[in-house]
Amino acid sequence: MKTFCGSIVILLLLLACKERPQSETLKQSVLSDSTTVEIIAPTDSKTKPKFKSLSGLADSTFVRLADFSDDFAYDMRYATKNNFLKEKVYDCAECYTRVKTVKALLKANKAFMKLGYRIKFFDCYRPNSVQYKMWAIVPNPQYVANPKKGSIHNKGGAVDITLETLEGKELDMGTDFDFFGKRAYHDNLDLPESILENRKVLKETMEEYGFWSIRTEWWHYNLSTASNDKVANFKWECE
Ligand SMILES: [Zn+2]
Repeated sequence: MKTFCGSIVILLLLLACKERPQSETLKQSVLSDSTTVEIIAPTDSKTKPKFKSLSGLADSTFVRLADFSDDFAYDMRYATKNNFLKEKVYDCAECYTRVKTVKALLKANKAFMKLGYRIKFFDCYRPNSVQYKMWAIVPNPQYVANPKKGSIHNKGGAVDITLETLEGKELDMGTDFDFFGKRAYHDNLDLPESILENRKVLKETMEEYGFWSIRTEWWHYNLSTASNDKVANFKWECE
């Protein structure tokens, strides 16, 4: 009977703890003839807020997206050699962009999450100096924007993205990121219905939240209000 009661106590306590914030720690100890569950819960007032606030920040400020949400996924390809340049051009994998782009991305991602998906990033803001590095490797305007003029990535208004399920399975968009060819075009309808549907969900939702696409890259989205912004060379810190 004692063991049975102990089990009920554990069950009730575990259920109660499940509802508690993640910041609280749970410590359990089971003794031979009785059962105790000890809960160590730091007071909430002492815990730091999980995310930074966007309020009061100018729309043009550069910020780190992960400081405002952990609902996004990342595969920052230019911080690896797994990209069309076959070179690592970022010192570390970070997704920085302007506040106004972050605001639009947070809204778009909420809409995607209602459908069971989330945004996964391949690239975000790209400092102009990195654009020069890319141009030095591939000096061809068909693949890399000329750094003298800069791209909307250099203005903090473009992102390269795909969708993945909330369980982390990437949706099939027909090609890998940075596949330069007809198969990556939005107007190439010669693709399986499921791929066209995945691209449609991505495009329609991004457009709803202020982004526009380019015809030849299914992964690239520009914030519509970013075209007249200045090319930037802000650089983030790497730890
Ligand atoms: Zn892009």
